[in-house]
Amino acid sequence: MTDWHGYAGTILHFDLTSGSAERLPLSEELARSFVGGRGLGARLLHSHSEPGSDPLAPEAPLVFAAGPLTGTRAPTSGRFSLTGLSPATGTILDTNCGGALGVRLKAAGYDALVVTGAASEPSVLEVGEDGPALRPAGELAGLGVREATARLLDGHGRTSAAVIGGAGERLVKLATIMVDGKRALGRGGMGAVMGSKRLKAVVASGARRPSVARPEDLDFFLYEVSKMLKANPVTSRALPEFGTATLVGVLGKRGVMPASNFRRAAHTSAEVSALSGERLAEEHLVRRSACWGCPIACGRQTRTSRGEGHGPEYETIWALGANLGLTDLEAVVELNYLCNEHGLDTISTGGTLACAIELAEDGAPLRVRAGDFESLAAAVVRLATRSGDDGELLAEGSRALAEAFGRPEAAMQVKGLELPAYDPRAMQGQGLGYATSNRGGCHLRGNMLGFEVLGTPKLVDAGAVEGKAGLLIVAQHLGAALDSLSLCKFTAFALSEEHYSRLYSAVTGFDLSSQDLLLAGERIWNLERLFNLREGFTCADDRLPTRLLEEPNAAGEVVRLEPMLAEYYRFRGWTADGVPSAGKLRRLGLGEYGPSAAGPADEGRSGT
Ligand code: SF4
Repeated sequence: MTDWHGYAGTILHFDLTSGSAERLPLSEELARSFVGGRGLGARLLHSHSEPGSDPLAPEAPLVFAAGPLTGTRAPTSGRFSLTGLSPATGTILDTNCGGALGVRLKAAGYDALVVTGAASEPSVLEVGEDGPALRPAGELAGLGVREATARLLDGHGRTSAAVIGGAGERLVKLATIMVDGKRALGRGGMGAVMGSKRLKAVVASGARRPSVARPEDLDFFLYEVSKMLKANPVTSRALPEFGTATLVGVLGKRGVMPASNFRRAAHTSAEVSALSGERLAEEHLVRRSACWGCPIACGRQTRTSRGEGHGPEYETIWALGANLGLTDLEAVVELNYLCNEHGLDTISTGGTLACAIELAEDGAPLRVRAGDFESLAAAVVRLATRSGDDGELLAEGSRALAEAFGRPEAAMQVKGLELPAYDPRAMQGQGLGYATSNRGGCHLRGNMLGFEVLGTPKLVDAGAVEGKAGLLIVAQHLGAALDSLSLCKFTAFALSEEHYSRLYSAVTGFDLSSQDLLLAGERIWNLERLFNLREGFTCADDRLPTRLLEEPNAAGEVVRLEPMLAEYYRFRGWTADGVPSAGKLRRLGLGEYGPSAAGPADEGRSGT
């Protein structure tokens, strides 16, 4: 029997169909191999799902998982992961979030909550120190995120709520889950998975604090990392003062911020300054906000002439601004509030509307116009409610929309997930990152911004393809490790894997070197890849939209994907077809999950 520190030591499985709960002990092997959060989620998804499952079928699992550092004194440790099958992509999809749900889940006594089945009526799953309870959602069904969240939070701060809006209830493929009304489990349509289970909300409450194995070591390391965060200009100045919107100016000047569905780059002049983080701070900021336990506080509480709300992030300003030809910042903030209220991913909503604008300009009967707030806001509502003559189509996302009009190249997506706010023609390594991301077009599964633009930890030539595979692989492993610990990726501007491994060892008492931490990241990445292979994905899905490969940007660049991809597979120890070799899997301890293996041992169910 393990004496747990950091971890709660228990996984809760709740079946919504039967209303039954099972408590399963976390095994030390599972904790050491997959860390927690995203890694634990991937491992539990493997053992609780069958190949070929429909993401919206009752049996599809949703795994909420805290990390070993969640709820400790480590900075930014109020995070957790949600893992499931994405209705937008069909891939494994994990999404990492602030808000306090992970902290409260662990404080209730659980490292992870696995939800399967479907309730017979709209319901709320409550998880507390006395165990779980499924209650009818009553009048919460049909409510927007703000009101539903307010009714669920009890005001004493020891409760947290993950809530879907109308979009999730209507199984919109772009639906998000909002946590405490401020933070989003944004990408891949996980709100629709909750909706398919008739789960309006998951509420967690508890007051237990995780125990720490070596408190004196932790004190010392916290002193060290706190100094590093204060000394770094990104974590001590740029993010606190301007939020992630600080990137508008930086990326606009470098030609990295795309516009109008990637048909051009946002200009450095009026367009960029109209949408800048400085302007957001001057005209709309009410106060900064922070996820639980975060000293950086990059969140924005903002106001417009019509009301107050949370955000927007850089990606949202791009997706609902430059990408839609909109340079009225107040209008962008309003569109962000609208998405939050309906429970929509702002990146995918912006990507879908940008695609719709392009199609409409070519004659498709879609009621959206570039730069026209009224038509865009109305389209967001039709998309979220599947209403009007084009709402059903918009609700399926850009890939289905573009295919419906015979123009698949107009959807700027990878594996069905709309691309975020970085034009890879100006950042070659980012293009490789999009193509190889296990959850589709994504900037958080190996972000090359540090290497290719900001110079953290070092600056490399953004236009070169040589050497990008190796750098990206390290970034992918570190990202997987951070999502599993669970800490915020923004700390990586100031901290290294050495800091993270020390914090982990001090909290859990499990000695873990920085190399071991990256190895855990590699194990998790490969496990996710194996999951996608199991679901029928191949190297043919590691692709980019043809626009990025064939239509040059203003500097005459396209993404030169093929040489980077070949190097990437080779460096990973995968075959030329992108399949992890048997030797690689053996070294990672993943032999049982390989393409020819019968399947994983069922640890999550057997409780070993
Ligand atoms: S830096 Fe921002 S996103 Fe990260 S934990 Fe802090 S407030 Fe949350």
